[in-house]
Amino acid sequence: MGESFTGKRAGVDRRTFLTGTALAGAAAATATAGRAAAVQTAGVKPIVIASGNGLRSQADDGETCVERAFRMITEGADVLDAVIAGVNIVELDPEDTSVGYGGLPDAHGNVTLDSCCMHGPKKRAGGVAAIQGVRTPSLVAQAVADKTDHHLIVGQGAQDLARQFGFTIEDDLNTDTSRRIFFEWKRRVDPAHYLDPERDAALRWRVLHDMARDGIIDPEHMYGTINCNGVNAAGDVCGVTTTSGLAWKIPGRVGDSPILGAGLYVDNDVGAAGSTGRGEANLYNCASYLVVEEMRRGAHPKDAGMTALARIRANTVDSRLLNEDGNPNFDVNFYVVDKQGRHAGVRFYSGDNRNYAVCTENGAELVPIEGLIS
Ligand code: ASP
Repeated sequence: MGESFTGKRAGVDRRTFLTGTALAGAAAATATAGRAAAVQTAGVKPIVIASGNGLRSQADDGETCVERAFRMITEGADVLDAVIAGVNIVELDPEDTSVGYGGLPDAHGNVTLDSCCMHGPKKRAGGVAAIQGVRTPSLVAQAVADKTDHHLIVGQGAQDLARQFGFTIEDDLNTDTSRRIFFEWKRRVDPAHYLDPERDAALRWRVLHDMARDGIIDPEHMYGTINCNGVNAAGDVCGVTTTSGLAWKIPGRVGDSPILGAGLYVDNDVGAAGSTGRGEANLYNCASYLVVEEMRRGAHPKDAGMTALARIRANTVDSRLLNEDGNPNFDVNFYVVDKQGRHAGVRFYSGDNRNYAVCTENGAELVPIEGLIS
């Protein structure tokens, strides 16, 4: 089941072109998306949404995550199969250092991956955490959902299970890029070996930000994840989240991404919400579950997401996590779609033009993520 990536990445020009207007979206429409429109049957217009990297990595045929998932959905594929096929493109992209193969490693230099998925109509879910050696943890998460009685398998157990399921296990998922960045981090963070724990943690955090500032790490990849959610014409909803987690994490650290209710929640009667950003904030607040529950009470996806952000803000009280205005000094993003296909991307801060990816019958486009705090 190992796959190699020989695809491309959508360049800046293409992203810029895609951002914003419906015209741009229409112009970017893939032939497959156009074809898809013809097979819609019910009242719901199929849609796929994802974090912005869902419109960046490209497969050999040029398809991005959201385009592939949308095409498959409109060709009649199972929605979960479709969104997972979409995120596989990003997992296999060696240049995306936040997801799958080539994700930035933990503090010992090991790439450890987290993923979960939820199948709305079948009410099945599966996740793997801290798995090593498999490029596509989302497929292992799906196998956990389909082939076991469990929802979450971690560490060596997850790798052993993947081997039993026939996945290719590799010794090392680092690429030259992730290895080079890791050694740069080591060089900066560990000049005199470990200091006292508090100082050490502060130093790690500062070095991470310095490396982003110096252009060594894509700021979006300090954390960085892909979440992708889809709805088909029958209103069936599925979602998947997959990540290499926090760069340089303490070995064994697991974020929100593989945890049902935190990094992803799907209810086929309501919709789906998934998250990227500081996983600890999301874990504490079970925020994707909260978003879906808000939509169940009638909230629009945007308002539901904003409610979750407000909850996280209210529960963030440690001074080390607050900026001078008393707001969180980190960000969390939610990608939210309801069963009717209404959608939103929300985060704490609107400042730096972050987008999420959307694919509909009009094609793929990047849509601005709205901020709670301007
Ligand atoms: N939420 C992920 C984690 O905390 C990382 C991310 O989305 O950036 O592991």
